[in-house]
Parts: sequence; structure tokens; C-alpha cells
Amino acid sequence: MTFPFNDAAFILDRLQDHGFEAYVVGGAVRDYLLNRPIHDVDVATSAHPADVVSLFKRTVPIGIDHGTVAVLHNGRSYEVTTFRSESDYDDYRHPNQVDFVLSLEKDLMRRDFTINALAMDQNGEIIDLFEGKKDIELKRIRTVGRAEERITEDPLRMMRGIRFASELSFTLGQTERQAFREKADLLKKISIERINQEMARLLAGKGVIQALGLLFETDCIYVLPMLHHADEEKATRVHYLALQTNEERWAAFLINQGIEDVPAFSKYWKWSNDERRHVFQLIKWTKHRMHKEWNEESIYFAGIRDARAVNRIMVALGEVDEQELDNQQCKAETLWQNCPIHSRAGLAATGNHFIDWSGAKPGPWLAKTIQDLERDVVNGRINNELEAIRSWFDNRQITQKKQS
Ligand code: ATP
Ligand code: MG
Repeated sequence: MTFPFNDAAFILDRLQDHGFEAYVVGGAVRDYLLNRPIHDVDVATSAHPADVVSLFKRTVPIGIDHGTVAVLHNGRSYEVTTFRSESDYDDYRHPNQVDFVLSLEKDLMRRDFTINALAMDQNGEIIDLFEGKKDIELKRIRTVGRAEERITEDPLRMMRGIRFASELSFTLGQTERQAFREKADLLKKISIERINQEMARLLAGKGVIQALGLLFETDCIYVLPMLHHADEEKATRVHYLALQTNEERWAAFLINQGIEDVPAFSKYWKWSNDERRHVFQLIKWTKHRMHKEWNEESIYFAGIRDARAVNRIMVALGEVDEQELDNQQCKAETLWQNCPIHSRAGLAATGNHFIDWSGAKPGPWLAKTIQDLERDVVNGRINNELEAIRSWFDNRQITQKKQS
């Protein structure tokens, strides 16, 4: 066997040269066996964090409580974590060979799923104490140890399990399904930020439909904020694979589930202001697009990026045929190119002009004037030239005076 994580070999070598045990563990081994791209390589070792710090030139103690030190090398960062069973002891001593094996076993035992509890030594030999390899072959998520105990210990594991099912297109073991259903309520104890992260990844996975099915089957979905009345039939009809960003997926999810109160949802789910605004915009423009084709005005105010995203959401929701998407994107592009301006900054007049011309103080009228001007310029009702804008403005003042 050869060791596939070339970049990380020096970490294992160095630790072992100094008498410590060291293994690549977790996601990297799993993804290697699955032929998936490897994101980060985590190392588990018998070395104490202080030893790790002294053995490598550039280190950052990122989680001393968990015994984790980041080793920086060639612009990359590797998390090196002391076997949990050892870092728990204050009276740390160098254990003998038998202790090492016990320690690795303990370290692997506290991991969540069998597929995440694999380790690899520097010869490429895989240590598989919980039939993780078999579960990879059978494409199955199973907990290490008794499912009920493991999710009671950390209920987030339910969301992680279903998220892995989505990302890897795996199924969930029978006992796990049963246990998740019994313990679904415990998800209420988990911070919504972490649930949100898992849910976003779940929606982005290629097995999303099947994973959503698991969320319903295990009742987990019904304990999530504002999803007590979620509808499985609807949820599994969305074509999420047509979508490219989290915001697009959330917009499709909320429209599909008929959740109108986006501000409340985003508050419960603790989205950032940017996320909330963006999802809100996408929903607004998708609903608009459901009634009306794009034109210069709507494309301009939505912006080409959101217009493209909305076209994808239309496909995801089955409002537009998938084969039609390219064509729709081209149409949007042409409309966008035809817009005489692409942002407010493209206007030949600025707020200062209107203040000068009217002699009025800035106020809400100014924003309204600029917005109306954008609309009229984009629609081709007036030319984007200072002269033309001046007479447009004067006429507007006269009409408004007459009206008041
Ligand atoms: P990815 O990074 O693609 O999500 P990963 O397996 O690397 O996958 P991480 O969250 O980075 O997942 O965690 C690294 C490893 O730590 C996991 O493979 C697993 O062994 C362990 N782990 C992470 N979270 C938990 C948890 N809640 N309970 C038990 N073990 C966990
Ligand atoms: Mg990881």
C-alpha cells in the first residue's frame, strides 16, 4: 500500500521519528476510499499538543481544549489532534505500544459514523475497527456504537448523518432511522447555527431528495424552526441540482414549502443580513417571474446575476423546463445588454443635480426621483443625457405641483 496523502506524509514521519504514533483520520480517509476530492487532512497522534508545537516550525494552537494544533506547511494547514483518550489525562506520560493501540481505538470510538472512524498509517494501511469500509461499499451511514447513545450524546449527529447521506448519496442504517425518529426532539437542544450549516450542505448534496426523505421519515424535519408543518410530497419535487448557491436553494425551498414569512424564518434560522436580503430578493423576483417574462426594467432592477439565479430557481421549481434554461439565460443576457445603464452610477445626472435644479433639501423625494429616472431610462422613455433628464425633471416638478 502506498500512502496517498503526500503533502501530509512529513507530519506522520516526523511524529513517528520522535516515538509518537500518528495516523490520518476521519474525512480524508473516507473521501480517499470514495475517490472524492480530499479537503483537509486531519491527523490523530499520541503526541501531546506541546510536543506537536515543538516538533514543527509553524503551528497554531487552534483548539487547545480539544488538543488540536494546526501545522502550517506549504501554504496548507493540517489539524493534528492528540488522541482524545490521552489529552483527557493531565498526568500525561509516554504510553507504551499497547497503550497506543488502545488510544487510537478510543479515539476512533468517539467518532460519529463508521465511515468517519477510519484511520490510515504512513504505509497506507487502513485501520478499520467498526466496519467502515464495508459501510462505504454498501453506501450506508451507521453510527459507531449504539445509535441511541451516540445521538443522545450529541444530537447534531442526526443532522450530520442525513447531511452525509445527501453529500455521498448514502442510505441511513435501519437502527439509525429508528433511533433518529425516537430522538428527533433532541435536535431542539442544538444551536440553530449548526443546524443551519448542516441543512445548507444537505440541500447542496447530490442525494438531496433522498436525504430530504430521511429528514421526514425520521421526523427530524418537524422539530426544526418553522418546519413543523413541512410537506414531504412538495419538498421532494424540487430539482435542487439545477441550483448553484445556498441562497438559491433556500429560496427554492421556501417557495416550495409555501413559507411566506421570510423575515421570521431568517430570524429563527439566524441567517446573516446578507443571506436574508439575498434570499428575500430571489424569492421576490422568482414570484415576479412566475407571472411575467423578464423585460429591461425587471432585469435591471433584479440585476443580471439574480436574474440568472431566478431562472435556475424556475427550473428547480418545475416552472421552466430544464432544456429551456440555456435559452432563458441567453434571453436574460440580451435584455441586460440592451439596458442603457447597468447601475445608478450610469445615470447622466446625480442627486446633486436634482438638489441644484429644485433648490430643495435632500429627502425621500430624492431617492424616489432617482428610482423613477432609472426606470424611465431603462425603459427607453428618456435618453440618458443631462439635457433630456433636466426637462424630464422640470416636467415632473410641474406635474407634481399641479397634482398637489
Ligand atoms: P467534511 O469536512 O466533509 O464535513 P469530515 O468527516 O472531515 O467531513 P468534520 O466535521 O471536518 O467532518 O470532522 C472531522 C472528523 O471528526 C469526522 O470525520 C469525524 O470522525 C469527527 N467528528 C466530527 N464531528 C463529530 C461529532 N459531532 N461527533 C463525533 N465525531 C465527529
Ligand atoms: Mg473535515
